[in-house]
Amino acid sequence: MNTLLSRAIGRHPFVRVGVRRAREGWQFGWIWLTVAIAFAGLESRAEGPWFTRTLVGMEVGPTGAQFAGGKHAPDYARNFNGVEIVRRAVAANAEYLVLWVRDGDFTFHDSRLLPRPAGFGDRDVLREAVEEARRHTLPLIAYCQLQYPAYELRQHPEWKARQADGKPIDHLVCFNSGYTNVVKALLVEILSYGIAGLHLDMVDQGFGAPHGCWCETCQKLFQAEHGRPMPKGVNWDDNDWDRMLSFRYAASDRFEKMLTEHVRRVAPGATVDFNYHGNPPFSWEVGQTPVVHAGNGDFVTGEAGLWAFGALSASFNAEWYRAAAPGRPFQVAVQRGVRMYHDQTTRPLNDMRWEMFTLLAHGAFVTMIDKTAYDGWLDPVAYDRIGAVLAEARAQRREFGHVPVRDVGIYFSARSRDWIGRDKPSAWYPSVLGVHKACVYEHFGFGFLFDENLSLDGLRQFPVVCLPNVGILTQPEVDLLRCYVEEGGKLLITGQSGQFDHLGRPQAASMLEGLIGATVEQRSVGLDHWVRLDSTPHGEALGTGLDHQGGSRTGSKSMAGVPFLVRGPATLYKATTATSVGDLMDSHRTALANPNGYNQDWPLSARQVVGPAVLVNRVGRGMVLTFAGSPDFATASEHHIVEARRLFANGVRLLQPDPRLRITAPANVEVVVTDDPATRTLRVHLIAYNATPQTTPPKERPYVMPGLIEDTPMFRASIELRDGLRSARPLHRSTQIKKRGRRVDLVVEDVHEIVQCRY
Ligand SMILES: [Zn+2]
Repeated sequence: MNTLLSRAIGRHPFVRVGVRRAREGWQFGWIWLTVAIAFAGLESRAEGPWFTRTLVGMEVGPTGAQFAGGKHAPDYARNFNGVEIVRRAVAANAEYLVLWVRDGDFTFHDSRLLPRPAGFGDRDVLREAVEEARRHTLPLIAYCQLQYPAYELRQHPEWKARQADGKPIDHLVCFNSGYTNVVKALLVEILSYGIAGLHLDMVDQGFGAPHGCWCETCQKLFQAEHGRPMPKGVNWDDNDWDRMLSFRYAASDRFEKMLTEHVRRVAPGATVDFNYHGNPPFSWEVGQTPVVHAGNGDFVTGEAGLWAFGALSASFNAEWYRAAAPGRPFQVAVQRGVRMYHDQTTRPLNDMRWEMFTLLAHGAFVTMIDKTAYDGWLDPVAYDRIGAVLAEARAQRREFGHVPVRDVGIYFSARSRDWIGRDKPSAWYPSVLGVHKACVYEHFGFGFLFDENLSLDGLRQFPVVCLPNVGILTQPEVDLLRCYVEEGGKLLITGQSGQFDHLGRPQAASMLEGLIGATVEQRSVGLDHWVRLDSTPHGEALGTGLDHQGGSRTGSKSMAGVPFLVRGPATLYKATTATSVGDLMDSHRTALANPNGYNQDWPLSARQVVGPAVLVNRVGRGMVLTFAGSPDFATASEHHIVEARRLFANGVRLLQPDPRLRITAPANVEVVVTDDPATRTLRVHLIAYNATPQTTPPKERPYVMPGLIEDTPMFRASIELRDGLRSARPLHRSTQIKKRGRRVDLVVEDVHEIVQCRY
């Protein structure tokens, strides 16, 4: 919703009355209110909401909001000024502004429910910002923290989430408590300012132990819903814990839906979005599943950031959000700080450009977060750089948002996340993360598929679908996968897929045996596995380019007969209808008297053959390729050798030998291809991650944070189109380009380049 519209809605007499009435007693009078402000809703639908028109925006909030326990220094946020923030955001080319309004202790508007920071005096920062934003027709979205309401929990300790033993979790609120009414009343206050939307951060139930909630209300609700008492704690061997997980997911879902409906009743023109946590590294503990909790609100939004999740989280999260909320816009938030949000530093321009263009190329719209100084001062250097990167993004607006061209569908099973990952999801995640990493390094287009909303049409979007160590698969899932393969789809299976029941308990056979064309003889214990390829045609195909010398992918020696480490979970298969390729080998660890006594972080050398390395099985018109080991897991592990990743890539190419595009580029260059069928244009985005080397870290050695991207790199790339190429044009004049038939060769001298290929 643009600001013109928010002004119109703000002036609407019914809305004004409705909001005032709601503030007096929000629980009454909804029916007439809904009818009255339906006009405003119609108006907003006609224009379309703000987020359908914006590409880049900013979020601004003061640093230090979270950490003072209500005992902030007097100068906290003293200079946090709504007028100044709006002007600076507009000058920095933001198309919308998410303004920090409510944190754990304070709110920045005139509230009857929460105090303002002492440094504000009588100032109403939200009012300042709303009025200034109207002058600039800038959509203003209010940031409202939900989950750590320190002020309310001091007044109402009975609203705290409870551990299984009844002890309160001091920083977490229960979403089934009376807190919900306070939130509704607070949102009515904030919405009365005529804002464009609310950003609600966040509906998590904690990021680890202690877990909740076993409060009296939750226990009663559970008993009513399930006809039995809650389990006494985390217990992965128990169907009651399955019920408890469902109960927790439902609590977050209900809370989000309730707030969304509430906002729509109070101010139908205002948008609502929730900071989403259904993606890795988060798991069941936050109380969200990938699809269900992405669907609440008007669009899905979440955070990337190499400060916490690694450089690959940008493209991973963007494509995850796209798949989790199909057909909806998706937003990713990034920060200007070098290490994280609150460090008061500013990344170099090229570091921000790399992340920004990665996200935009993947179809996200992007929020740049500025945490101001403790007193609210705005750093001019930060705004200069943010202004430059947002301006460049806006100038290239037409290059983004087209249909992605994809090779690999990455299957994600929330059931396996919960019941294989259990208390250590990070031990299961590398298989999924590794497929993504391999796709990025090898320039495959990728997307995600979820067990929560799997369909045959979803599978058909991808030439190859990968099941990365998907431990738990139900019969309906397997039936869909079989349909997909029989009609010509290609399936790539790794690790110990399909070998566990619904509670993650190992089964003798795999649900996938018919598709794999082999039976499970045994699950291999541990992670030290080796692969030795042979000289059969499949063996040679899978070994292409493994001997990775100096970046040369052609003319290298065969790896046939030489074992290489593929660290990760593995299965000892016996082929039935499949063709076996190469050997899976165990390690000398298995011969040790105390295998676990030897350093678990160091893999041991190859020992003996325990089964085939790869199985290739024709099913109907399609094909299934199964790695007995886990080259995906290996790729995301600390022993991420090139051979393991290349093995995975060769598996994809064996299944999909004639892709629409073949891209050659350095492994640190991510490639995103989109199609605009109306103009018969493929856009090939090339985005270089060019981090500088780092020295020994002062703490937590050997875990080294990546350096910052300072310079524009120079790199070669080539693009070959299977179906012919009429013309190719780069965006930047500095790019050298040569077209030969269906192929173009490039030398690029920037972090980001886009080649428009007409076909
Ligand atoms: Zn509770």
